[in-house]
Amino acid sequence: MSLKKQKSKANKVCTLATNNGPVVNASTLPDDLQRHFHYTLGRDEVGESPQYLYHALALTIRDRLMEKLRATKKQQQKQPTRRAAYLSLEFLMGRALGNAVLNLDLEDSVRKGLNHYSCELESIAESEHDAGLGNGGLGRLAACFLDSCASLALPVTGYGIRYEYGMFNQSIENGHQVEHPDNWLRDGHPWEVAAPEYNRRVKFFGHVDTYQDKEGRTHYQWVGTEDVLAVPYDVPIPGYQNDIVNTLRLWKSTATDEFDLGEFNAGSYTEAVARKNLAEQITMVLYPNDASENGKELRLRQQYFLTSASLQDIIAEWVKIHGSDFTDFAKYHVFQLNDTHPSVAIAELMRLLLDEHDLDWDFAWQITTSTMAYTNHTLLPEALEKWSVRLFAHLLPRLLEIIYEINARFLTEVACHWPGDVDKQRALSIIEEGDDPQVRMAYLAIVGSFSVNGVAALHTQLLSAGLFNDFYQLTPNKFNNKTNGVTPRRWLAHCNPKLSELISDKIGHNWTRDLSEISKLRRYYDNTKFHVKWQHVKQHNKQQLADLVKQACGVEFDTNMMFDVQVKRMHEYKRQLLNILHVIHLYDRIRRGDTEGMTPRCVLIGGKAAPGYFIAKLTIKLINNVAATINADPLAQPWLRVAFLPNYNVTAMETICAATDLSEQISTAGKEASGTGNMKFMMNGAATIGTLDGANVEIRDAVGADNFFLFGARSEQVADIRAHYDPAHIIANDNNLNSVMALLRSGHFNLFEGGLFQPLIDAILNPDDQWLVAYDFASYCEAQQIAALAYQDKETWTQLSILNTAASGSFSSDRTINEYNQDIWKLTPLNA
Ligand SMILES: *Cc1c(COP(=O)(O)O)cnc(C)c1O
Repeated sequence: MSLKKQKSKANKVCTLATNNGPVVNASTLPDDLQRHFHYTLGRDEVGESPQYLYHALALTIRDRLMEKLRATKKQQQKQPTRRAAYLSLEFLMGRALGNAVLNLDLEDSVRKGLNHYSCELESIAESEHDAGLGNGGLGRLAACFLDSCASLALPVTGYGIRYEYGMFNQSIENGHQVEHPDNWLRDGHPWEVAAPEYNRRVKFFGHVDTYQDKEGRTHYQWVGTEDVLAVPYDVPIPGYQNDIVNTLRLWKSTATDEFDLGEFNAGSYTEAVARKNLAEQITMVLYPNDASENGKELRLRQQYFLTSASLQDIIAEWVKIHGSDFTDFAKYHVFQLNDTHPSVAIAELMRLLLDEHDLDWDFAWQITTSTMAYTNHTLLPEALEKWSVRLFAHLLPRLLEIIYEINARFLTEVACHWPGDVDKQRALSIIEEGDDPQVRMAYLAIVGSFSVNGVAALHTQLLSAGLFNDFYQLTPNKFNNKTNGVTPRRWLAHCNPKLSELISDKIGHNWTRDLSEISKLRRYYDNTKFHVKWQHVKQHNKQQLADLVKQACGVEFDTNMMFDVQVKRMHEYKRQLLNILHVIHLYDRIRRGDTEGMTPRCVLIGGKAAPGYFIAKLTIKLINNVAATINADPLAQPWLRVAFLPNYNVTAMETICAATDLSEQISTAGKEASGTGNMKFMMNGAATIGTLDGANVEIRDAVGADNFFLFGARSEQVADIRAHYDPAHIIANDNNLNSVMALLRSGHFNLFEGGLFQPLIDAILNPDDQWLVAYDFASYCEAQQIAALAYQDKETWTQLSILNTAASGSFSSDRTINEYNQDIWKLTPLNA
């Protein structure tokens, strides 16, 4: 037999062998669990080390995920369809176990399997570290979207970075935030599978050579580069009880082998090893900045690393089947950019098509601008990414050339639309002129995309009318809204099993697939028997949170008191400061003996501050000092308890949102793009006290104005208010605020730390305070009083709670993803 024939026969055998795997199903699960525990991990007894049983269970479930993942892939290969790649620097996944058990419908067999070891699923699940590969809302949105895409059977792959260190762990020491590295991979990550056969090579530095071919066409070669290897780790993403398992592909950076060898031959062994460290630095740590950029070179490296590896991955798959024919590429592919973080993708796709696959500019640009779609997440100017041209030229010289060319062609269009208007060209240029010229990444993203979306109705309106108005005038049809959502699987079914059971008892359980059905709950809003059950569940959930608060903060929360909660990243625009001023006001009332009609409440605040964000960290310290003073005062005991929960993360939120009575969504109007915490609370039956900002607007519309505690300046008023803002005058004319400020100034909360809070006092008094804390204080206190009185009437409050859950149907990320698909992606669901 010829060698060629032997080879093809061998291939055939391999194909056959991979077709039939062993059977893994629900009934074999207990046996498989024991096999993994005793053989894969070599353990004998659970004893003091439940983490091994967790690990064995994770591997057992992963086997089932892998089977469905392979089947899903096969289905896609059999019948190639259009697919989407969701590019994001962050995926805030949290724990995977509970979600996988729910989505694969394995609860009964898992409990049976654990029974053998006399263990409870809930306690075993505690062994899992959160996958904290994100900062906050933006990263958690990406995670909710993956769940919805798989549950809707849409062929969508997530692409991200496998950070060695995720979001830092926060502890509180003497009231101050202390950051600890999150070494989340230390005990292994059983949910991922490395796929080194799909390694990609990413270039950095070097320079660009040009040459002319025989036809006189110029070609560009990016040479003299220092290459880094991107190694993919695949995390399975199960759909909700539909046999679909999608992929989240996370890239890890490592040194290329040849590079080491070259250095080694030159006798520079240690330098070679040092280079390896440099390469591995790229994916070492997640930048802990939410809603602000810091311009660090390593961050740009991360962005390009993710982008280049992911695009190469997709193009390599294409070339395997279609060779160098890119005619239909845009029919089969679409890329969603989660904020500007991966927006260098626009220039990188151009580079790959031009330089590596020899397309001409116009064809490459047509492909790029019909496959790229950009989601904007913020209106805050400090969060809009800019990269210095100097840095770009050094790190990514070929990409900068391409951006210049994109810009030159774009400015020609601008000149056509606004003839002779040089200022317009300067304003819209992707390159910002100045001593240190900058690349404006949002502008690159808009110019290179066919779709630009905001994340709530108000946000999209403000984008089109304000920040991006010139672009809107140029290409209005690009702009569209996709109001955020959260997955009802994690954020109701999983995190609140008691409420879920109660809901399913009444309306069936199809709400887990189609949350619009939750509106059927409205029928029971004045059913007193149902009220009792609803209250009973809430009491149980509040006890769980009280236990957590006791253990983490040492503060006693009384479940009969109103649970008033604000958890989210610490930021001035989110106004945790306004919240604590109201707490001080309540305390001031108690001290004055003005407790007539007061509702006893427990105030919980939690959230991480970016390590370099001074004012946000000082706010944490103030909250902790105020909490310590109030909790130590016997006079306050019956009325008010205050705690700052350290290390707010996804897992903490699962306990928190199920137990909250009053959800604090109090950002300065026009500053919060959407918010998603607001939706998790609403789904679990909390009432909202909030401003007309982000998705609060739509939440209030859905639940009805009577069932929402509204306060504060409107976004359209903010500019006028700021024009003649005089906080000192406001304070002088408001006895309550005056009294609060006097307490703060007196050092009542910092007796042995003189002057500590002066920067916060100054911020409130600053006529330039763009967050309008003093302005909104009075209306905030008024809304708080109305909410507090409503809470005293148990019937009223229970109705309010039921109505909130019943009105939460459109805040499912399934609704959001269906809209992305109908308007932007246009994918056909797989045969689920
Ligand atoms: C939902 C969520 C957020 C986003 O909260 P917002 O209130 O919308 O800012 C941030 N962090 C975690 C851990 C979350 O679960």
